[in-house]
Amino acid sequence: MANKANVELGVIGGSGFYSFLDDVTEVQVDTPYGPPSDSLFLGEIAGRRVAFLPRHGRGHHLPPHRINYRANLWALRSVGARQVLGPCAVGGLRPEYGPGTLLVPDQLVDRTKSRVGTYFDGLPLPDGTVPNVVHVSLADPYCPAGRAVALKAARGRDWEPVDGGTLVVVEGPRFSTRAESLWHQAQGWSVVGMTGHPEAALARELELCYTSMTLVTDLDAGAETGEGVSHDEVLRVFAANVDRLRGVLFDAVAALPANEERDCLCTKALGGMDPGFELP
Ligand SMILES: [Zn+2]
Repeated sequence: MANKANVELGVIGGSGFYSFLDDVTEVQVDTPYGPPSDSLFLGEIAGRRVAFLPRHGRGHHLPPHRINYRANLWALRSVGARQVLGPCAVGGLRPEYGPGTLLVPDQLVDRTKSRVGTYFDGLPLPDGTVPNVVHVSLADPYCPAGRAVALKAARGRDWEPVDGGTLVVVEGPRFSTRAESLWHQAQGWSVVGMTGHPEAALARELELCYTSMTLVTDLDAGAETGEGVSHDEVLRVFAANVDRLRGVLFDAVAALPANEERDCLCTKALGGMDPGFELP
């Protein structure tokens, strides 16, 4: 297996983030949960080994509810990653969070329906080991150190980020109705996406640091007065911002603490509890 890859960091994001790197190595990784969304693409940024994983597969063929989130986080950890950056496209739930806004959330609301959101589901793994029943805290779902680094990286590129806010994750793949969107806004939530859960929760269960960086590609249906969200609009705004988002990501990668210097709540998520299986 690829455990000798000396990877420190994982980025869950597509080819727009790694295609500019020299010497990218493609590695196939299998997991007890089946294959991840795609191969891992290993590259180096500022002297640090990074594994990129296209969340939706390289051809973008996986809808959010079909992504094998457990395999994705497991695969990244198995090659050595202990800190994961998870950039994603979202809809803005407030008029001031228009397209091009970079928001680094500090809270999460799960409104998904059909996803397995835990490694501790009591079912045996292929090797016969049965996970224990473990309840991790997700009160603060994102790594505080990673958030600080991401915010600083954005400011360093003259992209003033929104510091904090709540990402509500819906099942998709459809966008929200106006009523749903208005309800999300009325709760005071900030942005809406389709992939932020269970990524953060699974990362916590594996004692990984996970940092979400959300790029607003559209105003959600209830926050605007036009036709509602269109897929074309999302793609257009994402493409227009991918260069600077990549710049922020790379700067964040360079500034994240060394794995052995991590000193955040993420590293103690299991609190010494026995997960019943060996972490990859
Ligand atoms: Zn952390």
